Amino acid sequence: MFADLAIYNGQIVSMDQRHSHHEAMAVKHGRIVGMGAWQDITPFIDKQTQVINLEGRTVLPGFIDAHQHMIYFGTNLLNLDCDCTSIQDIVQAVEERAAFLNSDEWILGWGVDEAKLEEGRLPEASDFTHISNPVYLTRFCLHTAIVNERALNIAGINSQTEAPSGGELLRDTQGNITGVLWEKAMDLVQQAIPPYTLDQMKQAIALADEKYVEEGITSVHEAGMGFHTGSLEEFQAFQELSHDGQLKVRVYGMVLDTFFSELKAMHLTTGFGNEQIKIGAVKMFADGTLSGRTAAVHEEYLDPAGFRGILMYKDEELEEKVLAAHREGYQISIHAIGDRAVEQVIIAYEKALSSYPRTDHRHRIEHCAICNPNLIARMQKLGIIPVPQPGIYYLAGDVYNRVLKPQVLDGFYALASFMEAGLKPAGSSDCPVVPASPFLGMYAAMTRKTRSGEDIVPEQKLSLYEALQMYTNYGAYASFAEHELGSLEVGKFADFVVLPTGFMDFSAEQVKDTKVEMTVIGGKIQYERVRKYAGNLHYG
Ligand SMILES: [Zn+2]
Repeated sequence: MFADLAIYNGQIVSMDQRHSHHEAMAVKHGRIVGMGAWQDITPFIDKQTQVINLEGRTVLPGFIDAHQHMIYFGTNLLNLDCDCTSIQDIVQAVEERAAFLNSDEWILGWGVDEAKLEEGRLPEASDFTHISNPVYLTRFCLHTAIVNERALNIAGINSQTEAPSGGELLRDTQGNITGVLWEKAMDLVQQAIPPYTLDQMKQAIALADEKYVEEGITSVHEAGMGFHTGSLEEFQAFQELSHDGQLKVRVYGMVLDTFFSELKAMHLTTGFGNEQIKIGAVKMFADGTLSGRTAAVHEEYLDPAGFRGILMYKDEELEEKVLAAHREGYQISIHAIGDRAVEQVIIAYEKALSSYPRTDHRHRIEHCAICNPNLIARMQKLGIIPVPQPGIYYLAGDVYNRVLKPQVLDGFYALASFMEAGLKPAGSSDCPVVPASPFLGMYAAMTRKTRSGEDIVPEQKLSLYEALQMYTNYGAYASFAEHELGSLEVGKFADFVVLPTGFMDFSAEQVKDTKVEMTVIGGKIQYERVRKYAGNLHYG
């Protein structure tokens, strides 16, 4: 049996239980068939084998992003990037897009940040009066939108329109609507935007896929099929791409609880699927976000005083939902950021598990941002997996410093405590909320520094090896895939990344700036920084 691909002269860090290192590896039919020294793999090599000399480079298992939103990220890439330095540039980008569309088609954009704009203000409808297409741009936070007059007309909004509760239609001094919408008022216009077509979903996935392999990501957990477009057609989009050989990463698709009855009616449970796409956990939401101050915390926010965030469900409601999915044998993953929400989720899991004991359920808490030793001990007892996004300290840590009391921040992403308790925290980005780079996540886990250089609970720092475990071993475990993924061992999928020489001795700063040399999924080279090997045969 000769190999399709062989690599040698490298530092192959297997991330297996024994922490083995190898020099060479052989791959056949997408799986690892041999590992060891050069002599150990030569029996697998013949003329047809593509042989790559790694010249000392480091090889690691492909990274697993255990919580991200591929369609949401991809539609962002499909839409206009409004992360500009002036309103003039944004207007120009909209004009250029309009030139390619007929005037009924919507122009959607994202990433507006007035702090970066030289005009020092948000754009308004009046900046786009000459655009006949409807325009809908979102601020980078996604809690504010800017629309033009055409969009307001289509949505039926005029100066008499009242904002829905929980939202705001901003007005000028004369009381005219400016086109800036806050929160629930955004829905008024969003409802008028035609849903994404299957083709657009596929384009979006393909764009995100391309970016992911550049970052060394070989598997993702989609944090809610149906979340971005409101339709399970998302599954179809993934499936068609996969069938046509156009999807690179492996996808563990969590399914929004909204679609639970459909899922249950089909009797398709967690783990159903093939080598590339599987049905994951049932995904629910227990609270909101810290920067929006909607995450449910025990200790009130610094501002507004007395406010402790929002729980999406009453205890009994959440318990009922959890019990329903648990009883049917599903894995469950629940978004819970504040400690009040984390505790509510733990109680729901405790109750479900005591009524219907189940070993190896691997129920998860997505984000699990604010914790304390008591909650961690209860998670350990029940076997609950936290799924944190370390990159968020770096990007939003400074905001958290302003909105949370220091004693609350003490329990923020307690990664070292999670590790000590054996909780197997699975690393993730929540992309596009945080950039997908696992290197940014590992840097943040290793330094716990915010963008401005402040430390957030430095006692919770991880070593590089531990950070890598989060993005390999534990991502696999969180999807019941540790026998196939997350470490390089004979029999497992040949999903790996080639990184620069000496990566394991890199400082945190060097880790952050690491460029992936090559990404291989199922033995297939899916990305190369410098086109060198794909398509060429090198043997001998
Ligand atoms: Zn998310």
